[in-house]
Amino acid sequence: MTSQQNSIILNPSYCESLTEYKRRKTITVNIGDVPMGSDYPIRVQSMTTIDTMDTMGSVEQTIRMIESGCEYVRITAPSIKEAENLGNIRRELRLRGYTVPLVADIHFTPNAAELAARLVEKVRINPGNYADKKRFETIEYTDVTYQAELERIREKFIPLVKICKEYGTAMRIGTNHGSLSDRILSRYGDTPLGMVESALEFLRICEDMNYYNIVISMKASNTQVMVQAYRLLVQKLAEEGLKPYPLHLGVTEAGEAEDGRIKSAVGIGTLLEDGLGDTVRVSLTEAPELEAPVAQALIDRYTRRAENAKPIKPITINHTETLLNPYQYFRRHTHEVVNFGGQNVPRVIADFSQVSDVQMEDLKSIGHFYLPLLDKWKMNDLGADYIYAGKQPIPFMIANGSRQILDATTWQAIDDKLNTYPLFNGLDYLQATEKHPMLNFVTLTYKEWQPEFIQLLKTDTTIVLWIKTENAHAMAALRRLFFFLLEEKITCPVVLRRDYQENEENTLLYASTDAGGLLIDGLGDGILLGTEKTYLTSKEDLLKKLSFLNQTAFGILQAARTRMSKTEYISCPSCGRTLFDLQDVTAMIRKRTDHLKGIKIGIMGCIVNGPGEMADADYGYVGSGVGKITLYRGQNVVKKNVPSDKALDELIELIREDGRWNEVEAIEA
Ligand code: SF4
Repeated sequence: MTSQQNSIILNPSYCESLTEYKRRKTITVNIGDVPMGSDYPIRVQSMTTIDTMDTMGSVEQTIRMIESGCEYVRITAPSIKEAENLGNIRRELRLRGYTVPLVADIHFTPNAAELAARLVEKVRINPGNYADKKRFETIEYTDVTYQAELERIREKFIPLVKICKEYGTAMRIGTNHGSLSDRILSRYGDTPLGMVESALEFLRICEDMNYYNIVISMKASNTQVMVQAYRLLVQKLAEEGLKPYPLHLGVTEAGEAEDGRIKSAVGIGTLLEDGLGDTVRVSLTEAPELEAPVAQALIDRYTRRAENAKPIKPITINHTETLLNPYQYFRRHTHEVVNFGGQNVPRVIADFSQVSDVQMEDLKSIGHFYLPLLDKWKMNDLGADYIYAGKQPIPFMIANGSRQILDATTWQAIDDKLNTYPLFNGLDYLQATEKHPMLNFVTLTYKEWQPEFIQLLKTDTTIVLWIKTENAHAMAALRRLFFFLLEEKITCPVVLRRDYQENEENTLLYASTDAGGLLIDGLGDGILLGTEKTYLTSKEDLLKKLSFLNQTAFGILQAARTRMSKTEYISCPSCGRTLFDLQDVTAMIRKRTDHLKGIKIGIMGCIVNGPGEMADADYGYVGSGVGKITLYRGQNVVKKNVPSDKALDELIELIREDGRWNEVEAIEA
């Protein structure tokens, strides 16, 4: 155990309560006629992808975004000419009766920011590159040279603040994990603290000038870093006596389709659960009008959260050993039970309890393939680790490496008890006469915590807890159970079980928030997305649902960075700078590389911000001119301006040179 682990977070200063849903109190920021923060609803926003110089294209896309739910629309202004054209776009929108506040997105160009601040309602600056152009140079700063740098920033930044004050323009200080300045990197590294400090350097200047119309963001593609940075920001604002500014939440380069939605929900949802966040932008590699409904679905869960949630007992902890550190990832310490807990990755359990007459081919839905010619099973990278069969034992041998779980009463009646594990109900376990010698699953709800059972948990090393809740404030209720275990110094592994009666889109977002919010803090050794509330009668529909739930479970573990089972794509959402069709190119790269388990590939539309924004990718595919791609290994350029028709082959060659390539293995049942 490290010394940092010995920190106890009883009353974390990043949120008011870990058990009761309370939205963080902020100041109001005025952005056109759509104010943000304080008691105003959590706002939805997105960013256009059309070239800003295409006035009518930008107007049409903005209108589509408004109609899909955007309350603010951000448009890139990479230079003076685009900044100037924002005025034309705004004018045309007003002529057509749309008053949506526009936000100019600025990187590197203070002169464009100063012009845009006179024309639109809000300006977003990136503190990592507003006054800094040097990239990836490690420079040692003394206190004196560091101070001189701050003075230089001040001089460059003050004119913009003055204009914003004069014109009533709002500002977002938008830190990005991947584009911190050399100054910040040299002193703090690319850490959550570095991200926070990057924003505070600019914020202090604003407050010195009595300018407070500010929103702050701490975006990263790594959900753990992103969550920690937002929490730390809130804590530092309070600690330094700065105002409680509204927060703009987002995960950068989340990707596309389900993976993009899961990753966004894990990062954004985790913060929303604790009452943080005043506006949400979901960044998907898809048309921007598809982003707002996802953001809205995430936000809607909290509209009535406080009144619908059952009270949860507040946390009081009386010892001073390891609990949680919300600013740094540590996995809860657990002992190993078979392959749960300890150093094992979190396990995925598929719920077959509602499926009757299970056949071998039915298990394809959870990544298990029977090969009749070889008479053996093969599992793909998303093969569920365990199958919960409830009261209906699976009548054939399942894949090696996976195991069946049965309800305890059913388990007691079968012959092969050793290779199948029982699931006991709550306190029944106490009275059970027959138990498995190595692994017993026990479901438990909060009210079943009894002194006798707690005592048993401290000595019985065969138990894996299986926790669930019906509380509307589910993540907090489950987290409370973990605190209980921490309080009692109980180290048994825990499976998170959630059942949803929702459609697939909402199930995906809710499960990612509820389970992701725990996993991101190192809580949870397994996940089961159940079918108890699906009420599907056809077997075909149930198997489809199981396939979806299985992929979602693996996706959540990957997005929370607790188990990497597939290739990770860090693709930018695209904007007016984008040099190729991101959706097509991402699909093309994915098609050839999605079997490379655990490798992270950044796919970025431009070389101006792309290399910074892809942060911790292993390889980068970055647009560097029309029809030109520059390839990166980590943050280093390895092949410049490769013609785009050859770039994917060259990328694969690079992965091959590094010994990380393998051919796709066909699984044919
Ligand atoms: S990396 Fe993508 S989203 Fe970011 S500025 Fe470049 S093209 Fe736009």
